[in-house]
Amino acid sequence: MIGQKNKSHIDEALFQIDSVRHLTESTYVLRFSRNGMEFTPGQHLVLGLPGSTELREYSIYSGIHDAFLEVLIKEVDEGLVSRQLKYIGPEESLEVRGPYGFFLTRASNPPPGGILFISSGTGIAPFHSYVNSYPQADYRLIHGVRSINEAYDSGDYQRERLHVCTSRDNTGNFEGRLTDYLLEAEIEPHRDVYLCGNSNMIFDAMDILRARGISQNQIYTEVYF
Ligand SMILES: Cc1cc2nc3c(=O)[nH]c(=O)nc-3n(C[C@H](O)[C@H](O)[C@H](O)COP(=O)(O)OP(=O)(O)OC[C@H]3O[C@@H](n4cnc5c(N)ncnc54)[C@H](O)[C@@H]3O)c2cc1C
Repeated sequence: MIGQKNKSHIDEALFQIDSVRHLTESTYVLRFSRNGMEFTPGQHLVLGLPGSTELREYSIYSGIHDAFLEVLIKEVDEGLVSRQLKYIGPEESLEVRGPYGFFLTRASNPPPGGILFISSGTGIAPFHSYVNSYPQADYRLIHGVRSINEAYDSGDYQRERLHVCTSRDNTGNFEGRLTDYLLEAEIEPHRDVYLCGNSNMIFDAMDILRARGISQNQIYTEVYF
């Protein structure tokens, strides 16, 4: 490893790839060495091929007790890094910087009444890290995807806490967009709400949540693109 300042933050270092687990044709979990890195769920890393100037942010998917680090990546059409990393092999190296961010910091000391997590696509990654790290947490998770095969690792969540909205078919718990579900779902007004994913979903969901009585200071967001 090069350039490691201390155990908790790494400016730039090479980490060894362990495996690539393909969840769908375009989405995969990249697992690599942890090298003693400390992080809190919700933080992200900056990753890329060794020596490349093209690096991208990825939320940590694994939990704080795991011996390895994982990220959940969707290959973007015409994208550069998300496609490069899909074909990286075991034993190869990955450039890693971080961890960065404060997205779920407040949730590590959650208010009584629980937390509502809302995600689209790979925006579920920080919530996977959180649930893996704090399996006893009182959370409710709404995941918006096109079809149920994109409900990544849904078995890792307690069944009664996960609600999958499928926009292209009726294979989930709700047929339609996540935002359509929010219009009619029961929303407990005292819960802090964390939103992660694409900006269109986040802005639309925030409008609905505010209209349904959630105050702005209960809402936290992480925008991917
Ligand atoms: C804090 C943070 C955390 C992130 N965490 C994750 C994560 O956990 N998993 C993950 O897959 N991505 C995550 N992203 C997005 C990621 O950083 C890259 O933007 C994404 O992988 C595309 O990079 P690329 O080099 O392949 O595409 P580029 O060549 O950089 O861009 C191609 C185009 O794709 C758009 N785009 C970016 N992401 C998506 C997407 N998911 N679907 C459709 N279009 C997209 C970009 O806006 C751009 O117009 C995160 C972004 C941020 C800011």
